[in-house]
Amino acid sequence: MRRLLGWAMLLSIGLSAAAGGASGPELRGIWMHATQIKTPGEADALVARIDKANLNAVFLLVWYWGGQAFFESELCPMGDGVQAGYDPLGHMVKQCHQRGIQVHAWFVNGAYGAAQPRHVLDKHPDWAVDEGAGGSLWYDFGKPEVRRFQSDLMIECLRKYDLDGLHFDYIRYGPKQCYCGHCQNEFAKRYGSEPMTGARRTTFPAVVAGMSANLLASPTTAAVLAEFSDGSAAIALNKLGAGSVLLLNWHAENEMPPAVSETVRLTLGVWTTGGGKVYLVTTAATKAEYGTSSLDAARTTLTRLGHRPATIDAERIAKLPAGSVLVLPAAYVIEEKVAKDIEAFVKRGGQVLMLDGPVKSMHLPALRRITGFAKAGHYVHRDEVIRSTGRSPLVPRGEHQIDLRKEKARAQKWAEFRKQGVTDLVKDVYRRAKAVKPKAHVTAAVFSSVESAQKAYQDWPRWLREGTIDYVVPMAYAADTRVLSREIAQWKRIDPHLARIIPGLSIYDTQDGRTVTRDVDLICEQHRLCERQGAHGNVYFSLQYLSTDVVNLFNNEFYRKDVPAYVPPLRPSR
Ligand SMILES: [Zn+2]
Repeated sequence: MRRLLGWAMLLSIGLSAAAGGASGPELRGIWMHATQIKTPGEADALVARIDKANLNAVFLLVWYWGGQAFFESELCPMGDGVQAGYDPLGHMVKQCHQRGIQVHAWFVNGAYGAAQPRHVLDKHPDWAVDEGAGGSLWYDFGKPEVRRFQSDLMIECLRKYDLDGLHFDYIRYGPKQCYCGHCQNEFAKRYGSEPMTGARRTTFPAVVAGMSANLLASPTTAAVLAEFSDGSAAIALNKLGAGSVLLLNWHAENEMPPAVSETVRLTLGVWTTGGGKVYLVTTAATKAEYGTSSLDAARTTLTRLGHRPATIDAERIAKLPAGSVLVLPAAYVIEEKVAKDIEAFVKRGGQVLMLDGPVKSMHLPALRRITGFAKAGHYVHRDEVIRSTGRSPLVPRGEHQIDLRKEKARAQKWAEFRKQGVTDLVKDVYRRAKAVKPKAHVTAAVFSSVESAQKAYQDWPRWLREGTIDYVVPMAYAADTRVLSREIAQWKRIDPHLARIIPGLSIYDTQDGRTVTRDVDLICEQHRLCERQGAHGNVYFSLQYLSTDVVNLFNNEFYRKDVPAYVPPLRPSR
């Protein structure tokens, strides 16, 4: 009976709020970084701005930046540059609550947020995901001590402050697999096998789980040193003049199992014996279209392999000395002038490592000569086995065999194992938070596409289904409103009344490589769409882009009347 009553209540609240639209309770949230409020004066000015926009909830990032906390914590040091004796979170809670604005403490759980270990990971280097040749700067949720630490930290914050909620972010894994002893052994114990055959081997064949590749096809002068399971080129070496070009024909800077990093280590070892330096470069066109995350990932990988690559602009290629090594990670668009410079560089004795080929510029004859391939092939995303053709000692061949079908079954269990680690942290925080402050909401910023979320081992539909999160905020930042529309349709299949899915929208856009406040008409269009679809509010990213125009739009249009912040329905009692 109680159960039935619960569901009926849930349904009626959901319906009435949807029908009420903007006149009912509504979450009018905004994300902001505590690094913006290092003094009480800075905080007060921003609170006044939030209040003027008539927002009613702030999601304040209080833990990130290599383990710095912007609240009084026994577990982590106070953030750099915070005025002595001042407590940013405590001050915000007081100032916001006086104006009826909720405060949710926002934590970045997965990404570490610093280029070098500073706090937490300096004392516990083994708490990071181990990519194969060392550590990475993402927390490894596979380890119980990592989950315990983060859970303790969030609960400490909830106990000490009068919070309206705890908010997870980056509550997922980064792009790398984890080859650490704990994950391998725990997986073996749970499922009776190693997750990936050869996960710890430095010889081929090797599995690349979840490989994504923008393939180059039809090798002409390039020698294929390793193949994918369908016989297409995985690793190829092309000699040109006095130099050579090694192509790893997939997004190798993101997914590089130990056998492959061994190949890169050996190759760079040979290439730099004469004292040549390693340079990292991307093109302006690639940067404009794809950003610099591949460049950053490649820098991490090369550093781990013992090199200190200097990042240079493409204009400098023409001046590089012969004997230098140039690394191009995912440089899909290469301008004709740059292609010619690279060709000249290789011909006079330069070495080039390409991670994923220049698929969008293969119409240029210079790039066909540089790579030794005739054309661009397809994009693929799948689990793969890479086998050495035995043509080069740089791609060492082992005695072991790999059966891809078995590997796929294992990969599926491996995905389950990783998702479980992330889910266990969410569950633990939810359970403890409800015991400490039942009314505080436990929420999460999540990938807006369910498919992307699952790929990052972030199973938020399951958290909603199992009741271990009060609501999720999908980060639907696309400027194309049709994308938002499709995503809302997908969310409604999970939560028909959007009772526990609050669309997170962007008020920024990228223009010529700079981030700027989004066009007000577009902000308006997306807000209205959410409203028509019965959303119970929005959270905006982020305060930094809350310009006077946007304040006026919120204050005069969307949020004219004061309403209480939306509270999701109580969970039906179990
Ligand atoms: Zn691990």
